[in-house]
Amino acid sequence: MFRKCLRASVSPAADGNKEFMKIGVLALQGDFLEHKVILQKLGVETIEVRLPKDLAGLSGLIIPGGESTTIGKLAVAFGLMEPLRHFAREFPVWGTCAGAIFLSQNAKKEQPLLKMMDITVERNAFGAQVDSFEADLDIDELKKATGTDDPFRAVFIRAPIIESVRGNARVLSRLADGRIVAAIEGHLLATSFHPELTKDTRFHQYFLSLCKK
Ligand code: GLN
Repeated sequence: MFRKCLRASVSPAADGNKEFMKIGVLALQGDFLEHKVILQKLGVETIEVRLPKDLAGLSGLIIPGGESTTIGKLAVAFGLMEPLRHFAREFPVWGTCAGAIFLSQNAKKEQPLLKMMDITVERNAFGAQVDSFEADLDIDELKKATGTDDPFRAVFIRAPIIESVRGNARVLSRLADGRIVAAIEGHLLATSFHPELTKDTRFHQYFLSLCKK
């Protein structure tokens, strides 16, 4: 735990005790700014990652929602595929929506994927943009990590379903009808929905708790 925190320590601790972490947000396309705003609200230094060198010194990385084919193509063009895989082997990475697709092993169609999580996703499983919706999710692990009891209001926009999880990947959350919308595999996290589009910061807090381990 301390190795990563110390390695990532970049600012003198203003209050003496606060642990400082640098968290990256992949900033090739999509809603990376919204993630940045929440992380900053939580007092975490954030770095926009566009090139392999930007990964240096980070304690974790968020891959935002957007368009997974575009994020994949740009990651290939910027020489990021192998550096991202290397990073994800050692440090926590969280993919939201398109980011979850990009982390997956299988999206059932040909497109650049990191293939770091043993999950199969189905893109646009709920239909088009107009079929976007919100749902309350009861996520035990999130409640435990944040010491709260309220459900998490999740925003789904042209969202994928996590069709199956295998190996070390396990289900974190399902919709009421049983479809999987969040999964975790070690320090890798995938959510079909967009916690960065709500005021609830608990999912980001949960991810930060993984980065401190
Ligand atoms: N439908 C998009 C894709 O397949 C993901 C949408 C999103 O990130 N909100 O990449």
